[in-house]
Amino acid sequence: MLKKDLRKQYEQKRMQLSAAEVDELSLLIVQRFAAVSFDDIKYLHVFYPMVGRHEFNSLLLVEQIRKRYPGVNLVLPKSDLQDHSLKHILWDESSPLSMNSWGITEPESGAEIAAEEIDMVIVPLLAFDLKGNRLGYGKGFYDRFLAGCRADTKKIGVSFFPPEEFLEPAPHDIPLDICITPGKVWKFPL
Ligand code: ADP
Ligand code: MG
Repeated sequence: MLKKDLRKQYEQKRMQLSAAEVDELSLLIVQRFAAVSFDDIKYLHVFYPMVGRHEFNSLLLVEQIRKRYPGVNLVLPKSDLQDHSLKHILWDESSPLSMNSWGITEPESGAEIAAEEIDMVIVPLLAFDLKGNRLGYGKGFYDRFLAGCRADTKKIGVSFFPPEEFLEPAPHDIPLDICITPGKVWKFPL
């Protein structure tokens, strides 16, 4: 199937979930994060869920991390919509946030963290496969960002749905180390 058709299919699968189902599935995913060690994580890059897109409710994860791992510093992306790059801004409870023209909530200002400093990234996606290949929203924001991270930066995807058998990766595609679904923690290679 063409990538753009697969994106559409997964967008639709998500939109067929009720808001309550999105929260239930998100909670199951958050519970599975108990299997992930945050011991050596100084900077954790997370995304803020897009309103109305039925994304993983990462705010539930953030709440748990703030409570259980106070040594972890959260970082949020700020998108450059022209060149499809991301800046990474330290996110504490007092950081001013606002919505950009694509409906993405992001920091207005704050300390910038270099990609090489980030130890773990929670990666948004539409679909993934049994090898950790990822289908994103189609603009390559995360491939560009992850290309600038260290080789040992942990890349963790989150998905409400199980993997596809195989998604042909392009040379620029950066695979996941782990993907967490409501039913399972997928560690690559399997
Ligand atoms: P997504 O990862 O969001 O599903 P794609 O992998 O299809 O999207 O990438 C979208 C576009 O971004 C492609 O045209 C690709 O060439 C470009 N792109 C991705 N990563 C990079 C990179 N590291 N440098 C330059 N262009 C990139
Ligand atoms: Mg890609």
